[in-house]
Amino acid sequence: MKDKIAELLQARQRLAKQMPDPAIALAGSLMSRMIRCNKPGCRYCEKRKGKGHGPIWILSINTGNRRVRQIPVPASLQPEVAEGVRRFAEIQKWLKQISRINQDLLEERKKR
Ligand SMILES: [Zn+2]
Repeated sequence: MKDKIAELLQARQRLAKQMPDPAIALAGSLMSRMIRCNKPGCRYCEKRKGKGHGPIWILSINTGNRRVRQIPVPASLQPEVAEGVRRFAEIQKWLKQISRINQDLLEERKKR
């Protein structure tokens, strides 16, 4: 039983050490949208043919209480923001794994 606990502690340590750097983590989802300018004769906005202008990027964040914060993201910052959003999801996976180990650890420690 002690070995099992040592094993879990080791696994937990390993995960915590290998966790990707959380510094850039950014919650939310990055969405893109095309915009119509409504200027007559604009070839980008022609009905059925044109796709509109853009894409423009928006970071959409659930802030709780059914509220959503939307932050427009300039194209120049889009790759950085996309990476932050990916990192956030990645870190969550690591935390879930660590949490699973801690659940097992709790069960093992209760046995002693
Ligand atoms: Zn247009």
